[in-house]
Amino acid sequence: MDGKKVIDVIKAIAAKIDEEKEYLTELDNVIGDGDHGINMARGFDAVMPKLEACEGKDIGTILKTVGMTLVSTVGGSSGPLYGTAFMKSAMTMNGKMEMNLNDLLACLDVSIEGIKMRGKAVQGEKTMLDAMIPAVEAMKSAKDAGAETKAVVEAGVKAAWDGVEYTKTIIATKGRASYVGERSIGHQDPGATSFSDILETICNCL
Ligand code: ADP
Ligand code: MG
Repeated sequence: MDGKKVIDVIKAIAAKIDEEKEYLTELDNVIGDGDHGINMARGFDAVMPKLEACEGKDIGTILKTVGMTLVSTVGGSSGPLYGTAFMKSAMTMNGKMEMNLNDLLACLDVSIEGIKMRGKAVQGEKTMLDAMIPAVEAMKSAKDAGAETKAVVEAGVKAAWDGVEYTKTIIATKGRASYVGERSIGHQDPGATSFSDILETICNCL
């Protein structure tokens, strides 16, 4: 992937988030405050006009633009969390004009570390991490088993959606959903869902 392709992928993510806006908000209505889709869409809408100035720039600059825009435009916790993920990824991609599978995995690794730190969360607390961590593990296993890039990312997408299913079975202990306690059981986590949408979009663009 070159910078132009990365910009196309970000545009595709913005379109997907816009498509899923109402559904993500509905999910957040049940266990949170009903703004996850609105938050994500607001963030990515603000990213769109900034992408033009990113043309021809290195991938680090592109991802940094996305991260900073999400942090500054999204009020909810997902803004700083996804913003951190993109900014950490930007550091990994600093100065690079091409992005390969190993780079994507490195970006996901630092994103997880960043979200864990910023959100003070671990796996099993019914957050986006419950989709991200199994997705990256599945991708690494598929890669080690010799799978092609597309198949590796497909394995990640499947594991991410399995992670979303898993969030239905656990109690939220981080974020607003923790306020509803046991009543969060049976409902999937909005952030895990939006992450799976994002990874699926990346996969479809490959
Ligand atoms: P808010 O919770 O502030 O309304 P959003 O509704 O946009 O923000 O995002 C909620 C999502 O953010 C949750 O579904 C969860 O995946 C994620 N999240 C919330 N708090 C944390 C945290 N401390 N660590 C990791 N992820 C979190
Ligand atoms: Mg919310």
